Amino acid sequence: MRPQSLTPLFAQITSLPGIGPRLGKLVEKIAGALVLDLLWHLPFAVIDRRNAPEIAAARAGDIATLTVTVDEHLVPRSPRQPYRVWCSDETGRLCLTFFNGREDYLRKLLPVGEVRVVSGKVEVYQGEVQMTHPDHVVPAEERERILRVEPVYGLTAGLTQRPIQKAVAAAVERAPELPEWQDEAFRRKNGWDGWRAALAHAHAPAEEGDLSPLHPARARLAFDELLASQLAIALVRHHNRTVAGRATTGDGHLRARVLKSLPFALTASQQAAIAEIEADLAQPERMIRLLQGDVGSGKTLVALLAMLVGVEGRAQAALMAPTELLARQHHATIAPLAAAAGVRLALLTGRDGQKQKKETLRGLADGSIQLVVGTHALVQEDVEFADLALAVVDEQHRFGVHQRMALSSKGHAVDLLVMTATPIPRTLMLAAYGDLDVSKLTEKPAGRQPIDTRTIPLERIGEVADGVGRQIAAGARVYWVCPLIEESEDVDLANAEERFRQLGARFPGKVGLLHGRLKGAEREATMAAFADGRLSVLVATTVIEVGVDVPAATVMVIEHAERFGLAQLHQLRGRVGRGSARSTCLLLYAQPLGETAKARLAIMRETEDGFRIAEEDLRLRGAGELLGTRQSGLPDMRLADFAVHGELLAAARDDARLIVERDPDLQTGRGAALRVLLYLFRRDDAVRTLRAG
Ligand code: ADP
Ligand code: MG
Repeated sequence: MRPQSLTPLFAQITSLPGIGPRLGKLVEKIAGALVLDLLWHLPFAVIDRRNAPEIAAARAGDIATLTVTVDEHLVPRSPRQPYRVWCSDETGRLCLTFFNGREDYLRKLLPVGEVRVVSGKVEVYQGEVQMTHPDHVVPAEERERILRVEPVYGLTAGLTQRPIQKAVAAAVERAPELPEWQDEAFRRKNGWDGWRAALAHAHAPAEEGDLSPLHPARARLAFDELLASQLAIALVRHHNRTVAGRATTGDGHLRARVLKSLPFALTASQQAAIAEIEADLAQPERMIRLLQGDVGSGKTLVALLAMLVGVEGRAQAALMAPTELLARQHHATIAPLAAAAGVRLALLTGRDGQKQKKETLRGLADGSIQLVVGTHALVQEDVEFADLALAVVDEQHRFGVHQRMALSSKGHAVDLLVMTATPIPRTLMLAAYGDLDVSKLTEKPAGRQPIDTRTIPLERIGEVADGVGRQIAAGARVYWVCPLIEESEDVDLANAEERFRQLGARFPGKVGLLHGRLKGAEREATMAAFADGRLSVLVATTVIEVGVDVPAATVMVIEHAERFGLAQLHQLRGRVGRGSARSTCLLLYAQPLGETAKARLAIMRETEDGFRIAEEDLRLRGAGELLGTRQSGLPDMRLADFAVHGELLAAARDDARLIVERDPDLQTGRGAALRVLLYLFRRDDAVRTLRAG
């Protein structure tokens, strides 16, 4: 049960003064629906209204708070003219200007003969001191209230500062004193206030510097958020571990057959990864391991060998991919190897015919199919396994926590291996997965050559096309990627289609087009034609980013490379350099290049090391943008910023680990406070794993 003390914070924002249904919708859009959400809506700027000169001393461009007497209203004759109110003090005159001002409202606001305090930006127009739409107009008694540094909040169309300031202030007012959940020594060492004081301070910045994410008030709140998230992950994991797992061991005979059928040897990091996974599987606890490796590092093979441990142990294993295309590709890679091992493998996607699907489902249910590769069709209700021991989830760069869970729930105490192709910076991995076991594939398979990466201004696209012509005459296979430029898929598609027509006219019969709108069958036909060399050039939107594998392709052209993020460029480039031939990547950019784009392209030229690229990406962009926080499934942080709070994240991780070790059911005094923290950050799921309470 959520503690009573938090109830006021879980009220709707419309319960706050000044927020009716109409404003409520707007505030919800920027912050969220609950009072709590407004607490996390921190100001991004300050306005200093303490400058209170006399009119004659007011300087154009300054924010000033002026105390004036209202002299005269000049009501406009036509609605196009502004409404003016003349005011004065001992030193001069001030003209207040309103566009579309309503007379009755303005006469009430600024009664002639009375003193008012107005605050806003000073303008000087033809020698007259003016203020257009002052931010504040209040009676003299309220002067002190506005003579301060004011927080400025992010807005949306239709919303203005005043109501949101008022609502946030009321929300902060409602925030109760809460028991301290932080480790007291840690808090003191950092010089942080208690939660409520920090919150109040974060919303009352006294100067620009107070807006820094490293300011003590903000850092404290960020740490709270990180701690809640890390503790929740640690508690859930602890809970899953204590639920009995299974020990799976194999005698290696199936793996031996596969390895014998391969024309190459495993890399050292593939061997290490398999050894780690095998050791995990043999433990009675449930495995949750991340297999992290750059594109082309050979994860699929590692996954297959892990799955075969399960099959050797007389159970089943499943591999789930995020897209149909990928599922088919994994299936195609695995099929000959499974055949070599003498293991029955099936493919299950949403596009299977009824008859085939039925047969697959029967085979999975009676155990005659030992390995299955599929899309999320695998987690549908009608899918039953005789005995699923290992689930492998290929997430590329999307973290699909729910689907991961769904697949594990298809068996009893299923071990889980998560593959990610994007090398995730350490910080982000911690944030998404907590303290997870990780196997890394750090080397590329032997025989791969470095990719020659060049940056070329878009104006020289003609020369690039000439070069492509020479390459395909020599038998090369070329990817040509058109980017997401407009927000609209239609426009992007039009761009790709246009390029397809141009290149197609130039190299008749040799060019194919691949994009997200194509039907599965069309896509596959195009892919197949490119893979076996009937097509030489594949014009594509970024759909090929997700795991297309044509080892013979050696040229990657990326138009408007400056529009892509580093991680994306790296993924795209990884589509070439997969065979033994030397590959080229041409990054075409539009001028002028911004600083960040310049830095990105330079890094691409400099290195192929995905881990380094990922770290640079985080540094250049910040985490939210990096993965598109919402769609990535990364925890959606309101207060913490992975790009600057990396150290706090590590501290939160350590703290969470200690807490779970010492007080796994949060029974101590601090434990009770930590429960409040979990509720505050809506991690009720984690609280539910606790035994008592
Ligand atoms: P990833 O999934 O990590 O992007 P894949 O598993 O698709 O990489 O492997 C890419 C290519 O490398 C595949 O064609 C695969 O057969 C090949 N490969 C895998 N391991 C090795 C190895 N040890 N030596 C040579 N080639 C390998
Ligand atoms: Mg792969």
